[in-house]
Amino acid sequence: MRGRQAVLLEPGRLELREVEFEPGPGELILKIDLAMTCGTDLKTYRRGHPKLPMPTPLGHEFTGTVAALGAGVTRFREGDEVLAAPSAPCAECPPCRRGLENLCENINGRTMAWGAFADYLRIPAHVVARNVYPRPRGLDLRHAALLEPLSCVVAGVERLDLIGKDRVMVMGAGPIGLLYVSLLKRRGVPEVIVLGKREERLAAARTLGADQVWDLAQLDDPDAFIREQVPEGLCTVVECVGRPEAWSQAMRLVRKGGEVLFYGGCAKGAEVPLDTHRVHYDALTLKGAFHFTPSDVRIALDLIVRRELPLDVLVSDVVPLARVQEAIDRLLNGQAIKIGIGGPDPAAPTAPTAPTAPRGVSP
Ligand SMILES: [Zn+2]
Ligand SMILES: [Zn+2]
Repeated sequence: MRGRQAVLLEPGRLELREVEFEPGPGELILKIDLAMTCGTDLKTYRRGHPKLPMPTPLGHEFTGTVAALGAGVTRFREGDEVLAAPSAPCAECPPCRRGLENLCENINGRTMAWGAFADYLRIPAHVVARNVYPRPRGLDLRHAALLEPLSCVVAGVERLDLIGKDRVMVMGAGPIGLLYVSLLKRRGVPEVIVLGKREERLAAARTLGADQVWDLAQLDDPDAFIREQVPEGLCTVVECVGRPEAWSQAMRLVRKGGEVLFYGGCAKGAEVPLDTHRVHYDALTLKGAFHFTPSDVRIALDLIVRRELPLDVLVSDVVPLARVQEAIDRLLNGQAIKIGIGGPDPAAPTAPTAPTAPRGVSP
């Protein structure tokens, strides 16, 4: 089948192209019901991505409807509505064999379902086998399309030792920081503090349950302000900014015996000084977190399906695919948190066009 696909020709140059979608053995073609923008897409648009040679399609957060099945697919039928993560581990490389599936060496642009800013998306067989799930009727598409980022954040929260931790600070109020806020509150952390910027994001942090929200734009000396507000210090700091200054600040502000989770990826080669005295004598725990495993996806799926988190506050707007460029421009100008891509096209007929295949009927 043919459909449109947003293709990044070079940094800053996006084009909607007509392409052919054909499922290989074990694969699915999904009609995209809704895709979601992500910081990774924006970074790639701005400066390219080492694992995505140009020209490359964009978009990896999505929910869709099965439009075609490859040979051998038995778990799904045409017309099934699904949620999915865009990647899955290979189960064969050394990290996979050690149980570190989030660090699979074979996850890259070629092996992922990449290109959700499109009418259709091909889902590789190993992803179909492990990370595609039925979408319950009536589930808000904006929630369903957030399975991937929520899986990443579930993986990060699983790495934290939250037992007895009464005060956690999340640095950064972007989509990932906000997802951390909602999960940490759901895990019962008594006080979650957010340090971030931009009113829309800070308001979303409050909606998601943040107990304190500090606007960096209002603070001349954030370190001094935070020390004054919480003289006893922060048990845990989750860094979701991805800049070396933020990594350093996280290590300065965490209290004795505390834990820092570095989630925000800095530019390649970035280094930060380490206060060895603090790490040793204050017994700090410093951790990284990256990507997710299929078991994190199942936890995230459960949270979405049970509608436990008000995730739609992360989605500032939904626009049709034809306006994907405008969505990216708005995000680059800091005018939204996330934007859904794939709303009804104004030019397209608005009548119910989806063929409603009878469900639960054997072929
Ligand atoms: Zn993402
Ligand atoms: Zn692997």
